[in-house]
Amino acid sequence: MSSRILLVEDEPGLVLTISDLLASEGYEVESATDGRTGLERALKGSFDLVILDVMLPGKNGFDVCRELRQHGQDVAVLMLTAKSQVTDRVVGLKLGADDYLAKPFDPGELLARVEALLRRVKKEHRLEVKSFSFGSVEADFESGIVKRAGQPVPLAAKEMQLLRYLVENRGKVLPREEILADVWEYQSGVSSRTIDVHVAWLRQKLEDNPASPRFIHTVRGTGYRFGE
Ligand code: CA
Repeated sequence: MSSRILLVEDEPGLVLTISDLLASEGYEVESATDGRTGLERALKGSFDLVILDVMLPGKNGFDVCRELRQHGQDVAVLMLTAKSQVTDRVVGLKLGADDYLAKPFDPGELLARVEALLRRVKKEHRLEVKSFSFGSVEADFESGIVKRAGQPVPLAAKEMQLLRYLVENRGKVLPREEILADVWEYQSGVSSRTIDVHVAWLRQKLEDNPASPRFIHTVRGTGYRFGE
């Protein structure tokens, strides 16, 4: 499922460039060219992120951001500020923006910020599973106790974290890069091989037949999927 982004920007050239850039990365992009329309759309639509210019006709970006928050809308907001206006950033963040980017910006920088914000949002909105049973395994993530057929199975901290991640994302195909980013948070020296090793350990400890796993499946060429 691709993330939905609302772009509120009044410069036609920038609207075109940014929309194309985001669309080429697989995001679903809608745009509004004035503050009032932007606010209306942001309040109505289920967007994952709003990219909000400060200088807008109708209603400026600060007001849009403030009103969004006043309406209890907690969508992620990335503000586009003028480079010279240091105060813009401060004011923007105070009003509830999550990040800001000074104009003119490098397209790569924009994409990096967008990606980081969306990742943060996904993490915060993730449904936390406190405990989960599968097969003869009972995992209590609160206490950190995992039992198999009633017997405690010692799991290393990273194994526990990975298991929880798999369980919380059960049914989904999880690409290795995503697991690396979410569980290892781009720790240096960690490669996709690290994931494979941890998965092998988990299977060894939790699966009845690790060579033919019932729960932790390999998705060839991609990553893993948890679920029967
Ligand atoms: Ca503008």
